[in-house]
Amino acid sequence: MSPIFELPSFDDLIADAVVVSLPMRVRFRGITTREALLLRGPAGWGEFAPFVEYDDEEAAHWLRAGIEAAWLGPPPSIRATVPVNATVPAIDASAVPELLERFPGSRTAKIKVAEKGQSLADDIARVNEVRRHIPNVRVDANGGWSVDEAVVALRALTEGGELEYAEQPCASVEELVRVRAAGTGVRIAADESIRRAEDPLRVVRAGGADVAIVKVPPLGGMRAVVALSTQLAEYGVPVVVSSALDTAVGMASGLAAAAALPELPFACGLGTGGLFVRDIAVVDPAISGALSVGAVEPDPSILAQLTATPERTAWWLGRVRRCHRILDQRGALNFV
Ligand SMILES: [Mg+2]
Repeated sequence: MSPIFELPSFDDLIADAVVVSLPMRVRFRGITTREALLLRGPAGWGEFAPFVEYDDEEAAHWLRAGIEAAWLGPPPSIRATVPVNATVPAIDASAVPELLERFPGSRTAKIKVAEKGQSLADDIARVNEVRRHIPNVRVDANGGWSVDEAVVALRALTEGGELEYAEQPCASVEELVRVRAAGTGVRIAADESIRRAEDPLRVVRAGGADVAIVKVPPLGGMRAVVALSTQLAEYGVPVVVSSALDTAVGMASGLAAAAALPELPFACGLGTGGLFVRDIAVVDPAISGALSVGAVEPDPSILAQLTATPERTAWWLGRVRRCHRILDQRGALNFV
């Protein structure tokens, strides 16, 4: 059955809302503090944390996902744990061993490459250092290479061992198609090309992806991820459920979506909680590189310490009000 229900009123939506500000251990995605608005509804907690530069139309997808979590709860799960990858930002190779201590038991690492101001030699050194500790490695260029740079880099990065896949080596769908056709022997994963809800299948239809990175908030919820994954399976493209630097509440939705998928051949990108100095709840650490699936209840004393300033809270409440209005104009929420 397709759960359809009315949008909660704005007052109900924010009745127990808390805006938190989480300091990060290392700069990631250009930020050192992650802000999120947490919602509480009849089904539990949900998260609304679109990155601050996103416009309201885009952010409204994230609100839909937060409402699904807090008012409807997760879809039926078929697994109790989800394997996750360690995440290695664009740090110096010498800093890799200490960073990996935060991801004990990981069998897979995702490594940031193609960072502005760094060289291919930096990427090679970082990737090879990770290989000394973790057997499966994948890289994420966040669209930072041209087609030629990507082909050169992927050949160079596979001299020291295999790459599980390369995530978004170039920015555009057309470039991904060309890199994939160049025959580097490395699977191409689409992330930025797929994450928004508008036409996530375009890159796959164009022949630009072997693997799809899917995220709950920009796609509008857990059930949207499951539905998209079903469509992608028809093209033979497996998904990797990943976080958007979510707090433990948002991460629970990612884990629930991954737990609902019939096929999960790769470790998911849901292990980024270790990038925070402190998260809003104490969650069980990964065991043998896998996280437990289940609801997360923020710790009130931690929430109190991480609550954002009144100015930032007001900014987030204004944003959630505008996004609520957009969802209201779209009519009843239909979570297929
Ligand atoms: Mg990515």
